[in-house]
Amino acid sequence: MSHLIAEIAVPVPMRRSFDYIVEQSVVEGARVWVTFGRRKVVGIVLATKSHSDVDEARLKPIDAVIDTHSVFDTDLFTLLRWASQYYQHPIGEVLHSALPVRLRDGESAEAPPLEYLRHCVDLTDFDWQKLKRAPRQKVLLEWLATGQRPASEVRQSFSQSCIDGLLKHQFIEQFEAYPESQQHWWQGLSVADKPTPNLEQSLAITALVAMHNQFGIALLEGITGSGKTEVYLQSIEPLLTAGQQVLILVPEIGLTPQTVARFANRFNVPVEMLHSGMTDKERLSVWRRSNEGEVGIVIGTRSAIFTPFKRLGMIVVDEEHDNSFKQQEGFRYHARDLAAIRARQLNIPVLLGSATPSLETLHNAISGKYRHLVLQARAGNANVASQHLLDIRDQPILFGIASGMVERMRAHLTQGNQVMVFLNRRGYAPSLQCHHCGAVESCQRCDRPYTLHRFSNRLHCHHCGDQQFVPHSCGSCHAHNMITQGVGTEQLEQGLSELFPEYTVMRIDSDNMRSKVRLHQTLEDINSGKCQILVGTQILAKGHHFPRVTLVVIVDVDGALFSADFRAAENLSQLITQVAGRAGRAEHPGEMWLQTHQPGHPLLQDLLLNGYGHFARLTLDERKAAGLPPFSCQALLRCEAHDQEQAYEFLRQARDCFASSQVELLGPIPAPLEKRQGRFRMQLLVQSPQRAVLQKQLFTALPSIESLSLANRVRWSVDVDPQDF
Ligand code: ADP
Ligand code: ZN
Repeated sequence: MSHLIAEIAVPVPMRRSFDYIVEQSVVEGARVWVTFGRRKVVGIVLATKSHSDVDEARLKPIDAVIDTHSVFDTDLFTLLRWASQYYQHPIGEVLHSALPVRLRDGESAEAPPLEYLRHCVDLTDFDWQKLKRAPRQKVLLEWLATGQRPASEVRQSFSQSCIDGLLKHQFIEQFEAYPESQQHWWQGLSVADKPTPNLEQSLAITALVAMHNQFGIALLEGITGSGKTEVYLQSIEPLLTAGQQVLILVPEIGLTPQTVARFANRFNVPVEMLHSGMTDKERLSVWRRSNEGEVGIVIGTRSAIFTPFKRLGMIVVDEEHDNSFKQQEGFRYHARDLAAIRARQLNIPVLLGSATPSLETLHNAISGKYRHLVLQARAGNANVASQHLLDIRDQPILFGIASGMVERMRAHLTQGNQVMVFLNRRGYAPSLQCHHCGAVESCQRCDRPYTLHRFSNRLHCHHCGDQQFVPHSCGSCHAHNMITQGVGTEQLEQGLSELFPEYTVMRIDSDNMRSKVRLHQTLEDINSGKCQILVGTQILAKGHHFPRVTLVVIVDVDGALFSADFRAAENLSQLITQVAGRAGRAEHPGEMWLQTHQPGHPLLQDLLLNGYGHFARLTLDERKAAGLPPFSCQALLRCEAHDQEQAYEFLRQARDCFASSQVELLGPIPAPLEKRQGRFRMQLLVQSPQRAVLQKQLFTALPSIESLSLANRVRWSVDVDPQDF
């Protein structure tokens, strides 16, 4: 007897689906419970068919059907299936990672009904004396007399015994109902006061509005403070008025309550956030509400690209160059690139905004594939810091800062301004060394020096997270003469407090800003002038604006000038430009100083003299000459193993699975971080000027690579369009 068969995507790292027998009706995209090996897992129906290649006697039936409808809208389902192929990642894992955790675990996709309380006695001639001795119950009953309330809301102000008292006397009753839908939020939409756009902004807004309701991609290139966000706001306005929803993607640590407030203050539409700091319950609630069309604007980080929408009208990717849009493990997608694909399916526009566009995006804009919109003038009261190099060769240095710069800092501080000192190195000192024998305390599992953290009084490995007590004597020669080398943000903070005892120093890095609330509070303190000197890492470069800062000091970026990664120059220039862009207002023209031992370095010279735009265009020429992305397409095979020889051998065999006449193959070579957590890391780069050729080669090679006997003994992965090496 023949059954209907379903192809099910199961969340396992295998590049295939699994057949199950259908006993109840199922639809594509619905979740089902299936038995996989000995486990019960949530799978997703990819398709149904009448015949399986596997002997039907060996197939198991689907245990239970969870959804009567697909949990993915059609465009999302198509996007995810496409992404699974493009990124060469197992379909089961791709579909699962696109769902809120609670849906992965089988919870219902529909919002459950809420519990409500309402009064159930006739209150016209109610004898209130009955409640004489229960004043709280009286208050509650009076309140419910004005209308029913969700039980959860009542519990915020009234104790359970108070509620139970009224329930027992049957003065009130509890019932379940679905909350009133907010689907029609756009009716009666109001827009708060807005600035009159300047000429460039007007041109951009007009161009963007003309792109509505059709597919197209635009790059909005404009320095920090040039009014990009204002352009986002004004160009989405007609969409919201028409009841369309808008998705705004922002970098991981760039999402601030201020950003959200700007959208929420402009439009009286429901605005929701999605980020990693939320609970699974909160995320599911946003997912459901957006899916039902009850949310006007969703602002979220990378994975928000998988949010379902009822009527999506536009996707905005703010700070599109930011590397946090690329997922670095598991399903290694790029949210910006998926935004483009999703928009094409939905026939809607995408707006990419940045002060320092990625070279990929810039290339597409220059070549005319994307609409290129530019904001050169400064909007409102923003101002760009003048930029300078400080040659620190042979200069006396205090806590990493040249003595001349200390004086300059003092000058700014005496005028009542703030100073920002940027150093991309957390901790107290990047290494601890024996002054007698020279041995450096290193993590055995990563072969890299430990960073000394004074605050926790531990040695931290920044690569694997390992922590050790600080030794009093050298591990090799046992001499009691340990010294620190180099300066991290903790030491800089301490040093600056000593140098400027009359001012308050604040440090912002991922060690002391773990919570969003804390970061928000600190940013408020800075902008209200409670502190005068800010020390920090990367976090300072993203999303925040410090109008009272007039001097930015970049302590040390020389290391990045000599990186082997071809993207290092691009990332460094973006970082420098972004840091400089955080400061200043028209009435306080700012300056940025970059300390360096390489004042003649062409990258620094070009960047500071001619700006990011010029630098980026020159770098594109170089990439073209060298045949590097965006003029070629890459995939990186990574492998790690306890035995270095095994990692090498696996990639050597993997290399043979490709047709070397079709693609360029580089490697196997050791990864830049050669050892991590005790595993040796190797990599193999596959490259072709043609996307289709690269994809075809990956398709044919991967099944053979998967079946190599070493494949189960090493850890390996494929990264299409890798961002870091
Ligand atoms: P960006 O997103 O490029 O950093 P914003 O949109 O945040 O720039 O604008 C910077 C500041 O200038 C904000 O305070 C904003 O309210 C203000 N602004 C933007 N456009 C205008 C304008 N046309 N007129 C007056 N102020 C403006
Ligand atoms: Zn380590």
